[in-house]
Amino acid sequence: MEKRQQVKNSLQVFIDSLKDELHSLSRDIWCRPEVAGEETHAHDRLVQFFLQRDHTWTVQRHYITPTAFRATCGPIGGSEGGSVLNVCFLCEYDALPEIGHACGHNLIAEVGVAAAVGLRFALENQPGLPVPVKITVLGTPAEEAIGGKIDLIQAGAFTDVDVVFMAHPAQQDASFLPTVTIAEVSVKYHGQASHASAYPWEGVNALDAAVLAYNNVSVLRQQLKPEWRLHGIIKHGGVKPNIIPAYSELEFYLRTPQLEDLCGLKAKAEACFKAAALATGCLVDINYPTHTYYNILPNATLANLYESNGKALGVEFPEQPASFSGSTDFGNVSFIVPGIHPFFYIGTRALNHTEEYTKAAGAEEAQLYTLRTAKALAMTAVDVVCCPDLLQQVREDFRLAKLTQEKADRLEGCSKAPKDP
Ligand SMILES: [Zn+2]
Ligand SMILES: [Zn+2]
Repeated sequence: MEKRQQVKNSLQVFIDSLKDELHSLSRDIWCRPEVAGEETHAHDRLVQFFLQRDHTWTVQRHYITPTAFRATCGPIGGSEGGSVLNVCFLCEYDALPEIGHACGHNLIAEVGVAAAVGLRFALENQPGLPVPVKITVLGTPAEEAIGGKIDLIQAGAFTDVDVVFMAHPAQQDASFLPTVTIAEVSVKYHGQASHASAYPWEGVNALDAAVLAYNNVSVLRQQLKPEWRLHGIIKHGGVKPNIIPAYSELEFYLRTPQLEDLCGLKAKAEACFKAAALATGCLVDINYPTHTYYNILPNATLANLYESNGKALGVEFPEQPASFSGSTDFGNVSFIVPGIHPFFYIGTRALNHTEEYTKAAGAEEAQLYTLRTAKALAMTAVDVVCCPDLLQQVREDFRLAKLTQEKADRLEGCSKAPKDP
């Protein structure tokens, strides 16, 4: 049997041998859902998992941000003094307010951990690896808000990483789905309070500005491209009917498939917000309080390898993946390091961000799919580690994808050029 296949078989057996421990890990995270930036229990539980594994992992708690962590092991094998290949697995573990793990991030954590320990076991004692291998697991909090990975990028967490892997629960298996960019915009109107019946002419109505802004955006929506999204809420609209509201606040998300389109959408939305201020006499503050999430850059070599490993494990990939308009801060990572972010079925047709999905993410049934995904991911890492030619192709795909994106941005005359990462 080819050596590469032996390594792949061995990691599968090892992951299966840990299945109870892995299920209990993701179940513990699922049972105590914590929202973005507050994932202290999940952080501690994951750190503990690595500390208890035969002292081969070096663990950094509270890595860069309070609920992130880093676990590393290696270099393993390869010739002495050769440059080290660092393969990195990402764990997310934040939940949603009120509905818990409705995006299944507890399973993302399980996949990352299982793939990393499986790979380590299989590579250990393997003579003749082309290069020494380091395995890194990064715990990346706050995906559902803020964009925790972008803070980690800015602090240099990915500078020595060669290839990055993670997988996200969804309704189907797919090696790649086009995700969209997202910017969060906060709009605040400042007016003047007054008695709404006795002296309404003395007031400047901030709620009216919010309503006009909301309606301006609704009218604009008809003129947007079908894949663009612009959706929001009124967060604050006054305190009492007999007081002309002096303050109102809205929050919108803007999404487009490509970064260059996001600049245009921002300009259109800002015009809507400013027009409402002008019409009512309010002052307006327009802010972008969180990082912009980028679309994921595809990597065809990694996607093909993942599909062939998945198929060997019985994964069925639909010919035509369903359309998808989600966003992830992994997009920003994909601009920094070659990587893959497949989606995986967890045994339910329920949709992410629903209570039904929360239930499915904690169910025993999801385990088969979760561990199968971890194996396919680790097997893809084996391909990259054992075949320098494939690694070269992965790097070339990354270079070309970045080049294409930059060319599109230049043509559009958009000044977005990744400032965040
Ligand atoms: Zn989500
Ligand atoms: Zn998610």
